[in-house]
Amino acid sequence: MPQDKTKPVLAVDLGGTKIKAAIVLPDGKITHSRNYLTQAKDGCQEVINKVVFAIEETMAKSKLEFTELYGLIIASAGILDIKNGIVTASPSLPGWNNVSLGNILTDILGVQINMINDASAAAVGEHCFGAGKGLKNLIYLTVSTGIGGGIIINGKLYSGIDGCAGELGHMVIEANGPQCNCGNYGCLEILASGSAIAKDAQNRIKSGADSSLNELRIDSISAEKIARAAKQGDKLAREVVNKAAYYLGIGISNIVNIFNPEMVIVGGGVSKMGEIFLGPARKEVEQRAFSLPAQTTSIVSSYLGDDAGIIGAAISLFDN
Ligand SMILES: [Zn+2]
Repeated sequence: MPQDKTKPVLAVDLGGTKIKAAIVLPDGKITHSRNYLTQAKDGCQEVINKVVFAIEETMAKSKLEFTELYGLIIASAGILDIKNGIVTASPSLPGWNNVSLGNILTDILGVQINMINDASAAAVGEHCFGAGKGLKNLIYLTVSTGIGGGIIINGKLYSGIDGCAGELGHMVIEANGPQCNCGNYGCLEILASGSAIAKDAQNRIKSGADSSLNELRIDSISAEKIARAAKQGDKLAREVVNKAAYYLGIGISNIVNIFNPEMVIVGGGVSKMGEIFLGPARKEVEQRAFSLPAQTTSIVSSYLGDDAGIIGAAISLFDN
């Protein structure tokens, strides 16, 4: 593939809930962006078919040929073997074990496919064009279906020896806590993600707690609806959000003590709750982390929102 960095990149953000595909220009601008539902429960093959469809549709709409692109990159949820294009495991994509996503897509589309972890990509996006622009050290946390992380040290993405560093959602917060989708117990993800928030509210309602959420079908109670109820003053919804924010705050305290970053950026669907979620988390950090790094670190919401992953994925390709 020619190394002309004025050409655009086709980036796909493959998450547990949705797939986003877009053309990204070298200045971070996005064109021809579209979201698709992942429907991960339909299985690996169906999701791969959807990624292929998303790529083909984006190419058709943009009227570009593969030769007119700088490259293609998939920002995928999960523990990736970047060099070999393999999703080794992914708590957000059930049943994905050692899936050679890169090779499978190359065989179908006839073009080279690059890969990056979705939260690492979002960290790069926020660092280049978002809330962390110009900073040297930052941590990105995506709180959505699961919890992912990305680490920027000295202005560069820290990927670790295998390329799978930054799994901050799977730091253990409660050693004897509930079992996480990764198999371990008491991970941040099982305590503070959107799924954890929804499950906590559903369990409380099943055991007879009083709430405005009682009017909803129990399995339709999502983190988004809980946030809305919390903002309207619903006591149960507030308690559920506070509990998740408490655990998020413990996670961020660990991050602050370990990395001493300038900023922790919280993105993902759940971060859209804003201050009702970030406020209590910040308080927890003030109480738990060492005071010097706690005072230095700003804990802020994502600036690029849902676009952080695709923008960062494309930028990471240009930087290679
Ligand atoms: Zn876990």
